[in-house]
Amino acid sequence: MNVCVIGTGYVGLVTGVVFASLGNDVICVDKNEAKIANLKRGIMPIYEPGLEEIVSRNVAEERLEFTTDLACAVSRSEVVFIAVGTPPKEDGSTDLSMVGAVAKEIAESIKAPILIVNKSTVPVGTGDFVRKIVEANRPDGTHFDVVSNPEFLREGSAIQDTLEPDRIIIGANNKDSAMKLVELYAPLERPMIMTDVESAELIKYASNAFLAVKITFANAMANICELAGADVADVTKGMGLDNRIGPAFLNAGIGYGGSCFPKDTRSLISTAESLGYDFKLLKSAVTTNEEQPLRFVEKIREVLGDLTGKKIGVLGLAFKGNTDDLRDSKAIEVIQSLVAQGAQVQAFDPVAMDNAKEILPDITYAKSSYDAATGADALVVVTEWNEFKQINLARVASILAGKVIFDGRNLYNPKQVRRHGLAYHGVGRGTRD
Ligand code: NAD
Repeated sequence: MNVCVIGTGYVGLVTGVVFASLGNDVICVDKNEAKIANLKRGIMPIYEPGLEEIVSRNVAEERLEFTTDLACAVSRSEVVFIAVGTPPKEDGSTDLSMVGAVAKEIAESIKAPILIVNKSTVPVGTGDFVRKIVEANRPDGTHFDVVSNPEFLREGSAIQDTLEPDRIIIGANNKDSAMKLVELYAPLERPMIMTDVESAELIKYASNAFLAVKITFANAMANICELAGADVADVTKGMGLDNRIGPAFLNAGIGYGGSCFPKDTRSLISTAESLGYDFKLLKSAVTTNEEQPLRFVEKIREVLGDLTGKKIGVLGLAFKGNTDDLRDSKAIEVIQSLVAQGAQVQAFDPVAMDNAKEILPDITYAKSSYDAATGADALVVVTEWNEFKQINLARVASILAGKVIFDGRNLYNPKQVRRHGLAYHGVGRGTRD
């Protein structure tokens, strides 16, 4: 099938390359000329495990192309995916200006019947919004349809998630349109849910909001555990073994961040409000999540005292492991708060340091985890990279001046850390030291 993907970011690039690897002819479009020029030279715009190899293979086998020429790409395609950003506005509602602009450009480029697929995360009603724009701007009566096919990939495992999604959601108000997407996805042999456009749009927000509430529940339990002297890792393990609950998204820490959960939760609150429903449960989760990194920094301040001039080694910058994405990263929030209180931060992240230099120009960037720990008054862990989890604690104990670890991701076993003569403070791991 001839497929075009507009927006070559995390979602667009990964979607495009996976469809190409299934044998389709795919053209990925982006308005960012530097990004497209780099992709043509084999330089990836993001860090994502396995991405470079799969892109270069599909380019070499002539199934994948990159362009800035949207009109040409659309005119060659029967299925056109919209995968542009949908950032939050100041009030939490979703800014659909990029989706609207792309819809207009698609309309002006239609030469033959096409299926337009909304893959971006968009509020309920956006299918109609796109349909109206295309109807108003297409040159003649050429047939088109708009369907919803939200994306659930996770950064850090995006290729795997796209090749083996838990489910594929197809929201279409027309059977032929739905069948076209079924045909495209059939080689993946994964469960597909067919529904109307509005329900598909809501499934994405409902899923992200539910996961955000689940993490926040674990974090709130962690806060109670701290007060009660209990260990949240055991509490959530005990909860997670209940089949009705499940263990995923119960790891307590400094709060969820990233490009999706914060904006999608606020967007759903805003949608609910516009429909006349006060989503108190979700509002409360958002507030609790905002407080979580501040509580962590407060704990550091309580243990170390005045932070002015204190040297703090920080492990992590990205919002989670296996990505260089810093959007809404709680790691950055923690560092900014430490710096605001006068601390001197020396940070290390395996892949996110180049991106971080723009946001945090005044901290020191270490060459390795051990370099970050050297001579520091404390080591603070804020991103769950595997290499941080596997760190040599004996070596850390020998180079860390302050002999204390603040583990914002509960990566370590408190007893093991203490065995190395280091004090340990996790999130919700009791107060015994
Ligand atoms: P991104 O910012 O990484 O990429 C979006 C791309 O769209 C950018 O490269 C931008 O230059 C391009 N673009 C914007 N306007 C354009 C135009 N008029 N023509 C051509 N290109 C244009 O965004 P992302 O993280 O890939 O997210 C895209 C959508 O997918 C969002 O709605 C997001 O919520 C959703 N989503 C993201 C993830 C994730 O993990 N990142 C997961 C699921 C869903």
